[in-house]
Amino acid sequence: MITIKDKTFVPFIPADAIQERIQELAKQINQEYADKRPLIVVVLNGAFLFAADLAKQLTIACEITFIRVASYAATESSGQLKQILGLNESIEGRDLIVVEDIVDTGFTLHEVCKQLRDKQPASLTIATLLFKPTALKEPLDLHYVGFEIENRFVVGYGLDYDGLGRNTQDIFVLA
Ligand code: 5GP
Ligand code: MG
Ligand code: MG
Repeated sequence: MITIKDKTFVPFIPADAIQERIQELAKQINQEYADKRPLIVVVLNGAFLFAADLAKQLTIACEITFIRVASYAATESSGQLKQILGLNESIEGRDLIVVEDIVDTGFTLHEVCKQLRDKQPASLTIATLLFKPTALKEPLDLHYVGFEIENRFVVGYGLDYDGLGRNTQDIFVLA
């Protein structure tokens, strides 16, 4: 059990299960990208540990880059817009693997993938460590999924609660 600020979290996915699943995902990527040289696009901050552990298991030639997604309200009525920050290289003609920590409603990745596709990559697949299928509101083709989980709030292994809790080896769920 861990406490972060006012909330209590209980163990959910232990470190060894996470690492085992990452090995399986890496094996699949190594096979499917054996004759390619993908550009791995890591969505910060949440995916930093997942991406690091995944990358260490990749035996293919690949490049790794990092982006952030900034949310801002353009006007009060248009809701949240999302902007990709930090993508400096050309992705035209590249095989992209977008690495995320968690897909909840899918709004973030849906918008990110739309903006990336506008720049004409050769292909784009998504690798997410966690996926909450019952929370999904935007259609998304998730090619690599670590774990499908219930619609509950999780922290740890990169995922935060109010900026805290990213630095654990296990994943915890709100009690
Ligand atoms: P979406 O746009 O798919 O609804 O949500 C994407 C982002 O919301 C994730 O990248 C993550 O930052 C945050 N998020 C969604 N669900 C959770 C959760 O259960 N725990 C934490 N820590 N963040 C979450
Ligand atoms: Mg994220
Ligand atoms: Mg967060």
